[in-house]
Amino acid sequence: MIPVQLPAAVSDLIARLNSAGYSAYAVGGCVRDSLLGLTPHDWDLCTSALPEDMLRVFADERVAETGLKHGTLTVIRDHIPYEITTFRVDGAYTDHRHPDSVSFVSDVAEDLSRRDFTINAMAFSPDTGLTDLFGGREDLEAGIIRCVGEPCLRFEEDALRILRALRFASVYDFAIDPATDEAARKLAPTLQNVAAERIREELLKLLCGRGAGRMLRAYPDILGVIIPEILPMVGYDQQNHHHSWDLWEHTVRALEGVPPEPDLRLTMLLHDTGKPEVRTTDAKGEGHYKGHQQASARIAEKVTASLRLDNASRDRVIRLVENHDIPLRTVTGETNLDRTFLLRRLNRFGEKDLRALFLIHRADRIATGYSPPEREDARLKERMDALDALLAEQPCYTLKDLAVNGRDLMAAGLRGKAVGDALQRLLEEVMDGRTDNTKEALLNRLSSLN
Ligand code: ATP
Ligand code: MG
Repeated sequence: MIPVQLPAAVSDLIARLNSAGYSAYAVGGCVRDSLLGLTPHDWDLCTSALPEDMLRVFADERVAETGLKHGTLTVIRDHIPYEITTFRVDGAYTDHRHPDSVSFVSDVAEDLSRRDFTINAMAFSPDTGLTDLFGGREDLEAGIIRCVGEPCLRFEEDALRILRALRFASVYDFAIDPATDEAARKLAPTLQNVAAERIREELLKLLCGRGAGRMLRAYPDILGVIIPEILPMVGYDQQNHHHSWDLWEHTVRALEGVPPEPDLRLTMLLHDTGKPEVRTTDAKGEGHYKGHQQASARIAEKVTASLRLDNASRDRVIRLVENHDIPLRTVTGETNLDRTFLLRRLNRFGEKDLRALFLIHRADRIATGYSPPEREDARLKERMDALDALLAEQPCYTLKDLAVNGRDLMAAGLRGKAVGDALQRLLEEVMDGRTDNTKEALLNRLSSLN
């Protein structure tokens, strides 16, 4: 395993606390990630100093006191925040959300024992080296997620830990220890009591992890507590000769086939959720799913609201779900027809979402089991290349690219709704290659539009 190397600022903060007579350590995620050879995205510290002691020790530093009640002082050095938290144990979690109280303690061992998993319960300081009381290092080496202490008790204290177990297993591609696994499944229904914001954070990380597909296959029961809308897909036979797998396996494969970005992964998780409700069966026994895109989009609306996803991501996911299999022919961008098609798609979706739709198509088609990945990769490349080539010309595909604006049209005598309508028609003229995007050509064209 890789030794922990503290950034200079962290060693210094620890040294300052030590010279004032307190013990202090780097703790949790940063120790875990260091041992894995990954670069920690932040450094958390824990200390025997009480909040008022820390305020005194760091009186000359830039600090934020927002978490002080729970024992956390944030020291800011070179614009980087370092959270330093007094050793503490948590009181009962009667509402399954927050500890009723926290009490400060003097021993790092007690602080480590309140933490969720062995791999997250290690502390490090330059003087003492690694403090690993629960076999965290061994579990890191073996790739195991295991609760600190008795799994059922730990999940009863805070049900979010159930989802966190799946999240860490996904992100590091680890296994979940059998006793932890069993407790997680047993107590999964209590996840219903956890605040949506906390769930969302863990779920999105889970969906973007290397082991996401494995977690979805192994734990639809747990994920179904958070998103019951996925449950009808599990084991659902599509009765369709374009599909090799049941709907859940198709969904999992489609999800694994898009880049690990939250919006895209969530889109694939939900893209076919509407299928079971719209299914019809023809005389030959073949299943059809007309309108499933809209049905899935309605489900996506509900699910993204229940997860309290931010509005931008929410709108995006709903739109991508609704349009996940919109026709995108293989185009070269060379003929006028190709240009027009691409420009109209750009106009409707914008560059970012159009590229996302290319990726979604590829993943969705490979996940049917009937389209060879090589063919879909080649098709994706063709589409991306055509789009790159077209965009390099800086073509006009939005109203703001148009060489005339509303003021120009008003000067030409149009009023009210007619202005917007005319701008839209002129934009279409330009995208379709019938008119040049110059003021002169457009104003000329205007007179013959009506
Ligand atoms: P990440 O890399 O995603 O930040 P992390 O392990 O740092 O992972 P955080 O949520 O930032 O996760 O929490 C920091 C530390 O606090 C954890 O490593 C763990 O020791 C402890 N912790 C966090 N959430 C819980 C929880 N719900 N129950 C018990 N301990 C927790
Ligand atoms: Mg962290």
